[in-house]
Amino acid sequence: MEKVLLVRYTEIHLKGLNRPYFERALVDNIRKALKGHSPVIEREQGRIYVKGIAEKDFSEALGRLTRVFGVHSVSPAVSVGKDWETVVAAALGLMEKRLEGCGEGTSFKVLARRSDKRYFMNSDAINRELGGRVLERFPFLHVDVHKPEVKLSVEIRESAYIYCEEIPGAKGMPTGTAGRACLLISGGIDSPVAGYMMAKRGLTLSAVHFYSYPYTSERARDKVVELTRLVSGYAGEIKLFLVPFTDIQMTIYEKCPEKETTVIMRRLMMKIAERIARTDGALALITGESLGQVASQTLEALCVTNDAVSMPVFRPLIGFDKDEIMDVARRIGTYETSILPYEDCCTVFVPKHPVTKPKLDELRASEAAVDFSEMIEKAVENTEIMTVK
Ligand code: ATP
Ligand code: MG
Repeated sequence: MEKVLLVRYTEIHLKGLNRPYFERALVDNIRKALKGHSPVIEREQGRIYVKGIAEKDFSEALGRLTRVFGVHSVSPAVSVGKDWETVVAAALGLMEKRLEGCGEGTSFKVLARRSDKRYFMNSDAINRELGGRVLERFPFLHVDVHKPEVKLSVEIRESAYIYCEEIPGAKGMPTGTAGRACLLISGGIDSPVAGYMMAKRGLTLSAVHFYSYPYTSERARDKVVELTRLVSGYAGEIKLFLVPFTDIQMTIYEKCPEKETTVIMRRLMMKIAERIARTDGALALITGESLGQVASQTLEALCVTNDAVSMPVFRPLIGFDKDEIMDVARRIGTYETSILPYEDCCTVFVPKHPVTKPKLDELRASEAAVDFSEMIEKAVENTEIMTVK
């Protein structure tokens, strides 16, 4: 008898002839996620089996697996030979553990799948036979085929796999199968969630953060590194570019009309991010903007921001309420770090009355009145790059 983690995967089955490409990527990502546990990974008919994990590492490995994008769900299973009495013994052993603490009247059903069509019993027969043996051994149970509390699954393949738990996975597409994009990450709640959501669709992430020493602190920077690390728990390794932004920000503050400072700042951030993205092989930018959330996220402001770059800008949170974004942040574990109270450069210089409906030509003119080119060069030159994992 061997303990295995049985992995089901998501939409990959829709990918026709590209399917092997997606499957290989998923297996690679699983291997990376389980680094240090020396897993043996096998693929068979729409399933991935992870074997060879030491008993003491089993729940840790399970946790890591459920965070890999492309994984629909994971079942800790036992794998045994297909001899019927062996199957029954393993199933009863598993039920014994599963039923600990369950009382009179607990409902169950057996769910058999027979991929090996030469097996001497079909699925119905397995359901009936095994159901009978379970009832014999645990007479306090009753069968409910519609809404059972306990589902005992048996899959007859090369071996027999038996399990009674199905833990939901991260879903989505395997990271790296959709190309690379660059996340503008602040220390807030939204941008880490935006990065998570796009990585979930298969993108590899890099990230750009703008900081303004001494107006923003060392701790604000550490917080961003930590948020990036938390996102990398799902998205894999992230190359993080830390861009010094003080000179540019001070210049905007001194030389541009006060009410336009935020939008001009956003445009310059996008321009620098686009440059970094191009050198890094990224084809799109990602932000945590949500329509109407603040003055710089009205439709007019977003149009003016977009005008600064030619790359597509992905805004996965555009239709989300703040509550909904916070829910995701809590679920993926970034929320507690995001709410630490360190200032972001966006919040340090906030105009009292920002424009909510900026006009593109006016904004372009205000920006063109100041020569930012040298400052941009300097910022890019002094950008610090780190790999976060
Ligand atoms: P967040 O919660 O992510 O900080 P926000 O609601 O505070 O977002 P803004 O401050 O207007 O919104 O920023 C909008 C988006 O711009 C952010 O989601 C992020 O993608 C990007 N951004 C803001 N500040 C920075 C920064 N200092 N460095 C990099 N990107 C930033
Ligand atoms: Mg912010």
